[in-house]
Amino acid sequence: MNNLIAADVMTTPVLTVPDDWGMDQLASYFVDKNISGAPVTDATGHLVGVVTMTDIVRHSSMPLSQDEARDTHEYYLASSGRLYTDEEMDAQIADRARYASDMVEPNFVKIFLDGTPEGYQVPFVEPYSDGSGEHGLGKFSPAELQDIVADFDAQGIATFMHAVGDGSARMALDAIEAVRERNGDSGIRHRVAHLVLAAQPASVDDCIVNTRRRGCRIR
Ligand SMILES: [Zn+2]
Repeated sequence: MNNLIAADVMTTPVLTVPDDWGMDQLASYFVDKNISGAPVTDATGHLVGVVTMTDIVRHSSMPLSQDEARDTHEYYLASSGRLYTDEEMDAQIADRARYASDMVEPNFVKIFLDGTPEGYQVPFVEPYSDGSGEHGLGKFSPAELQDIVADFDAQGIATFMHAVGDGSARMALDAIEAVRERNGDSGIRHRVAHLVLAAQPASVDDCIVNTRRRGCRIR
């Protein structure tokens, strides 16, 4: 360390803040004045404490709003820290060999087809039992999902489709089937993940036969 003492590096004059300021007001004041903390005074001007940027950060992380939480995709990306742009994701995919090792094969992507059943965010084959007649709405239309899976398939990337509802699972299998027809059999194994509910195929034999010919269709 050098020989400076506190008196050499401190900021003067002393800028105090009132004890009734909110976090936003404190933050913009600190930025404005280029300081990272300040003594706090009460209504009578008495020194009652110290507040710093660390305190603001610690008490400022807001929970996601109900609306934000509804969108699974946004929710997971937001809770992992930040949102990636399409360009950033394309760049990561193009650069994926960099992340490969004996233990890691960076050749798949996860796609959320649905969210949680509250608020009809999960597609089911049968309508919801509340009499609303709703079947639930997923993240993609069947045509959109087929395009997405076909695109990754063509790049040699397997998809990992998160599907809670049997409607989503069916859409995933239909997409795989359509992509096999469109791209030919790439040998890439696309998957339905975190499956909670699947409608039964008519029979196991039917499923096996269809798998060989054109993919197992859940009905
Ligand atoms: Zn999942």
